[in-house]
Amino acid sequence: VPSNYKVLFLQGGATLQASMIPMNLLRGKTSMDFIETGHWGTRAINEAQAIANVNIAATSKDKGFTYVPAFDTWKLDKNAAFVHITPNETIHGVEFYDFPNVGDIPLVGDFSSTIMSRPFDVSKFGVIYAGAQKNIGPSGIAVVIVRDDLIGNVIPHTPDLLNFKKHVEAESMLNTPATYNWYLAGLVFKWTKAQGGVAKLEEVNKRKAAKLYDALDATGFYINSIEKSVRSRMNVPFFLKDESLNDKFLKEANERRLLNLKGHKVSGGMRASIYNAMPEAGVDALIDFLKDFEKRNG
Ligand SMILES: *Cc1c(COP(=O)(O)O)cnc(C)c1O
Repeated sequence: VPSNYKVLFLQGGATLQASMIPMNLLRGKTSMDFIETGHWGTRAINEAQAIANVNIAATSKDKGFTYVPAFDTWKLDKNAAFVHITPNETIHGVEFYDFPNVGDIPLVGDFSSTIMSRPFDVSKFGVIYAGAQKNIGPSGIAVVIVRDDLIGNVIPHTPDLLNFKKHVEAESMLNTPATYNWYLAGLVFKWTKAQGGVAKLEEVNKRKAAKLYDALDATGFYINSIEKSVRSRMNVPFFLKDESLNDKFLKEANERRLLNLKGHKVSGGMRASIYNAMPEAGVDALIDFLKDFEKRNG
């Protein structure tokens, strides 16, 4: 993180940032650009609309959030306060592997489910935020990384607890912080370093995701319809071609201690979340099960 950024540890999860960021970044402007590539982008749009006008500059809703609209098709407003993207859509399983250049307009990224899974260039962003509960620690704390020039311009009548400047001045201790969650996040940062850092975790994450997608693509028994260049390395949604086997699949998976494979209620099907904490052996066990289940039911 470059030295012209502040790192904050705040409460309210990622979701609160969808309203706190507009309050701090509007700076007299009246509209915000959003790129909608899945469920969390939509949620952020809904929250931000309570504060000011939202322009949906690009969306992949037309194809069920299975791709990222090409950067040169985005209808950006040159007067927008910022451009908001969701670098990894946790439910739909769509991940950005590079980021657009949006000129002087600050880029804001909801990195909740991809932060610490791979290195990236922080300097491309005005604000980065992430709920802790995917790669950082337990829920109850969010990490917010804000560029200095975006601090200190809140809209009128903003309470102190929603004001980045107040949090910066108080070093994230404006009121009692989520102490235990913060402590645990510190342990995860140490663990991450002990693994060889984020670059090392990226290697493992690439390998985990590649072998899982290979297994899912092998025969047509399983389906993942996300465009290959933007498939998430953290969240792998998939469907059984014959959905009448879903209950049997989940029951047998559970018996093998392969847990929580049921897809999010928004999308149905299955989802394997393979965050940093999931060892490669866990992915290997899932692949063995996928193959074995297919052999018996294909
Ligand atoms: C989990 C998640 C959220 C919601 O986070 P909360 O901390 O529960 O508010 C928002 N965005 C993304 C991308 C997520 O993965």
